[in-house]
Parts: sequence; C-alpha cells; structure tokens
Amino acid sequence: MDHLSRSLLNTFSTQPLNRCSLERKDSSWLTSQLSNSQSEYLVLDGHSVVCINSDPVILSHKQLHSMKAIYNPILLGLKKTDNTPVFVMNIAEPEEALESFYSEKNIESLSLRAITLEIDPELAAMYSYATMLNHWHLSTRFCTRCGSGLVIKEGGSIQQCVDESCGHIEYPRINSAVIMRVTKGNKILLARQETWPEKMYSVLAGFVEVGETLEHAVEREVMEEVNVPVKNINYHSSQPWPFPNSLMLGYTAEATSDELDFEQDDIEHALWLDADELKVELTAGRISAPGELSISYRLIDDWFEAETGISLQTFKCSYSPL
Ligand SMILES: [Zn+2]
Repeated sequence: MDHLSRSLLNTFSTQPLNRCSLERKDSSWLTSQLSNSQSEYLVLDGHSVVCINSDPVILSHKQLHSMKAIYNPILLGLKKTDNTPVFVMNIAEPEEALESFYSEKNIESLSLRAITLEIDPELAAMYSYATMLNHWHLSTRFCTRCGSGLVIKEGGSIQQCVDESCGHIEYPRINSAVIMRVTKGNKILLARQETWPEKMYSVLAGFVEVGETLEHAVEREVMEEVNVPVKNINYHSSQPWPFPNSLMLGYTAEATSDELDFEQDDIEHALWLDADELKVELTAGRISAPGELSISYRLIDDWFEAETGISLQTFKCSYSPL
C-alpha cells in the first residue's frame, strides 16, 4: 500500500473539496462563488459544530441572505463532484441567529470529536478543514510584524496587514507533531499520561521543534519520554488533526533497548506488550486502546492485525485524548 492510500484510511483525510488556490486569487471569481445560488454554508460556533438534533447545520444561499446579521463567510472550496461552492461561517450565538429556520428544533453546538464517527467521513474531513481555518481566523486578529489590523484576502485562505507600508501576509499555521509506533522484537511500546482517561494507553507523540527533521523529532521524543534509543525510523501515514490545528505525522521505529525510564517527562506509565499480552489486557479491561478517530489507533491496529489476524475493533476502545 502506498503512503497516499495509507493516509486515506485515517479519519479527516478524505477531503471532498478542491481548495481552488489559484482561482481564489481572482476577486471576480470569488464574487461569482458568493453569488452562486447553490452555495452551502457550514456553521461553526467557535471550535464547535452547530447542529440540529445532532446533525451539522448546513445553510443554503437563500437562508444566508434572509438572515438579519451580516456574516463574512470564508470560502473552503468547491465540491469535487459538482463544483458547489462551500463556505464556513462563525456564529457566536447560533440559537438566536438560526431560530427563524429551526424554531421547533434543538440547536446545539457540539464538538467535532463527539460527532466525527457519527457523520459521513467526507463531511468529517470538510469540518476538520473548516474548524482549523475558523480557529485561525478567530485567533489571528493582528499583524504579527507591526500590530495593525488584518484584512481577509483570497476568500479567507490568507489575511493581509491593513497598513500598506507593511503589507505583511499572514498564512494559516499548523503545528506538526510526530506520533510513533515503537517496537522491539514482537513487542510494542505503549504509554499513558496522567491526564488521559483511566486505563488508556497509546503510542508516543510530540510536537516537532524548530530546526529539526521529522526523524530527529521521533528520536528525541522517544528519548525524552522513555529514555529509549531508536533505529529504522520509517514514515507510516499522516492525518490532519483539528484539535485545534495540528498535522500528525505517523512513524514506526525500532527500539535498541527495552529498558524504560519514564520518570523524566509527562509519562505516567509505559510498558512493552506482545500482541497476546495486549489481547489479554484489553479483554480483561485493564487497558483500553485509543479511539478510532486518531492515527494512534491506526498505528496500533496495523501492528495488532499483522500479529494476530484480528482488528482492535473486536475490543471496545476508549476515546483518544491526544
Ligand atoms: Zn503589518
């Protein structure tokens, strides 16, 4: 399986939209997308998805233009299937703003984590992209070079400083994190942090630091967290991680020692388990694996399935906190 196929198995990876990076530089093209009567508008309330009876609200062009308040929708892109323009808009008080459309229904703001596995995977990928972009707009209000205000450009994929003598362009940023499955022989390294749900164990992960390669980040994080040197570091797959704005880069690595020392960082406990031992721990409920939302689940499941021929899905998995 190539890396693209492997990444496409990760949640939030099957993006149904074309971002139209080149077209969106043309303001008349942008205007025609905004005036397209077929256009659709995802509604977010900060980092939460606005839902009606647990289904995400997607407003029509007609609904948007019948609303009292003026909103500035951000263009996500065009649907690959039929070129429908899809926007995201942030509404701070959705109950009030949407009551004329959904007066009898239950308007609520739900976390993307809570609804992801309940909705279509392509819709989840669209909301992942939308929440990351919305987060950037809500948290980037001033020019980082001179402190002046910013104006939205290219439909919202960039913002530019309003001070013409500065003109600095702000781009959405993502935080890169490596997440690695470390094995030694037929055993996998699993660890937990104190703040995680009880009994939950996962693979190690950490943010990439300035000036290092992804492979060095893998090496450094494993050393910092459990004091184990690794070799044969290989890329597995990647996953957009909208909590709030990360890119997870999955790796595999082999430990050259099995002596664990997890006193020095935020790891509460770490251990080596072979697949049969993990099966026993999962069955007894002494350990729970991460939820299917996260690439950590994929990294463990790929190994577990290769070792045992059965999937982790057989066991009830807990929620991934990472
Ligand atoms: Zn500036």
